[in-house]
Amino acid sequence: MTLTGECFCGSITYKIAGGVSDARSCHCSRCRKAFSSQASSYAQVSAAEFAWTHGQEFLSSYINEEGTGHQFCSKCGSTLCGIVEGEIHGITLGCLNEDPNIEISRHIFVGSKAAWEVIPKSVVQYAEHAPHDD
Ligand SMILES: [Zn+2]
Ligand SMILES: [Zn+2]
Repeated sequence: MTLTGECFCGSITYKIAGGVSDARSCHCSRCRKAFSSQASSYAQVSAAEFAWTHGQEFLSSYINEEGTGHQFCSKCGSTLCGIVEGEIHGITLGCLNEDPNIEISRHIFVGSKAAWEVIPKSVVQYAEHAPHDD
């Protein structure tokens, strides 16, 4: 499966020569701000299968001393990917163009979700980290 993704303004595009895995949504206050949303919507990719295809010069990075953070479009602000220890770790599901054939398997840090968010009772949710999360 080849997937493609792009930011809101279309300046930055990427492709993934494989699928994505381990889709999750984190509802903590940090993710709400980083993703400008009620929660993150994120899945892991293999760094070897991921490539920027256009507009990499427009990428901005917000990465801490440990090399962990995210990258976003400097023109439109879309958050595109997560970086762990200096390497691409995953992508934001919202910027994918195709159906990745995967569903969000867990909602984490639901214990600190925004008061205004209503989460369907049927989804798998954890107050903090899911057991066995890295
Ligand atoms: Zn953009
Ligand atoms: Zn979070």
